[in-house]
Amino acid sequence: MDGVPVIRRKLKAWHRRHARVLPWRETADPYRIWISEIMLQQTRVEAVIPYYNRFLAAFPDLPTLACASEDDVLRHWEGLGYYSRARNLHEAAKVVVREFGGCLPDTVEGLRRLPGIGAYTAGAVASIAFGRRAALVDGNVSRVLARLFTVTEAVDGTAGRKRLWALAEVLVPEREPGLFNQALMELGACVCVPKVPRCGGCPVRGVCGAYRAGAVALYPVRARRGAVPHKEVVCGVLERGGRVLLGKRAEGMLRGLWEFPGGEVREGETQVGALARIVEGETGLRLREREALCVVDHAYSHFTLTLHAYVCEVSGRARCRHHAALEWVTESGLLLRAMPRADRIVADHWRNREIRPI
Ligand code: SF4
Repeated sequence: MDGVPVIRRKLKAWHRRHARVLPWRETADPYRIWISEIMLQQTRVEAVIPYYNRFLAAFPDLPTLACASEDDVLRHWEGLGYYSRARNLHEAAKVVVREFGGCLPDTVEGLRRLPGIGAYTAGAVASIAFGRRAALVDGNVSRVLARLFTVTEAVDGTAGRKRLWALAEVLVPEREPGLFNQALMELGACVCVPKVPRCGGCPVRGVCGAYRAGAVALYPVRARRGAVPHKEVVCGVLERGGRVLLGKRAEGMLRGLWEFPGGEVREGETQVGALARIVEGETGLRLREREALCVVDHAYSHFTLTLHAYVCEVSGRARCRHHAALEWVTESGLLLRAMPRADRIVADHWRNREIRPI
C-alpha cells in the first residue's frame, strides 16, 4: 500500500508535537487507560474529563471497582449516557479479579473475553497500555482512513467497515503502535474533522487521496438513513408525605437506573389518560390530582422524546409490577440515586417546585 511508511512517520511526529494534554495520556496504568477508552465511546473528550477524574477518585483501582455496588457505579456514571458501558465495566472488573488475578489481560483475544470490550476497545487497550501491534477503528479513524484512501464503500456498512479494519491493520506499526493509534484518532478529532477538515495543517495531506483529488467533501461515504423516530412520553412525580416514588429499571438500555413511573402516550390517548393508565399499571396506585410540572426534550442515539412530567397525588398501596424495585425517597434521596438525564431534569424541577396548574 502506497504511503504507509510516510503516514506512520508523519503522524507520530505530528502527535508528539501537537497532541492535547489529557489525563489518560499522563498514565501508563492499563486500568485507567481502559476506563478512559470506555468513557470516550460516543462521548466528547471535554465531557469525559470531569467524569474520568471523579470516577477514578471513587474507584482508584480495579479491585475497588469490582467490590463496589452497581448503584454506586451507575451514580458516578450518571449523565454520561450509554449506561450499559458502566454495567459492563463493573462486570468486567469482577471477572478480572475472579479469573485473571486482578490484572487486565494484555492481548486483544484476552481483552475481548471481558464484557463490554469489543474490537475497538481491545485494540486501544492492547496497543496503548501494553504496546501490542493491534489495530483500531472508531468514528474518527473511519473518517481519516476513508479520506486518506478514498474508500468508496459506506463507512457504516458491512463492506466499508471490513475495508477500514483491513486498512488499519496494515497501517499500525510494530514499533509504538499505541502512539500511532492515538495519532490517528487525534488527527480525526482535531484536524480531519467531519464538516470542514483543516487540510492546510494536516501532516499527511501529501499522501491523502481525497485531498489530492480535490474531493474531500465526498468522503466518508455514508449509507442513507431514515428519519429518527420521536416519542411522546409522560411521567408522574407521585408524592406522599414529602417523598416521591421512584422505580428501578429492570431491563433495557437504562437498566439499574431510577426513574419516575411513566411511559409512552398511545395514539388517540390524552397525556393525563396515559398517565393514569401507566401509573396504575406500573405501581397499582390510583391517580387523584395532578399538576403539570415541566416538559423535557431529549435525544437518544436512535430516537428522540418529549417527556411531559406531572406532580400527582395518588391513593392506594404501591406494588412493584414493572420495575426491579419501587421506593419512596426523600429530596436528598433523589440526589443519591443514578437517574436517566430526562428524569434528573424532572427531579430538579420538582425540587424547585416550578408547578403550574392545568
Ligand atoms: Fe483529512 Fe484533509 Fe488530512 Fe486528507 S488532507 S487526511 S482530508 S485533513
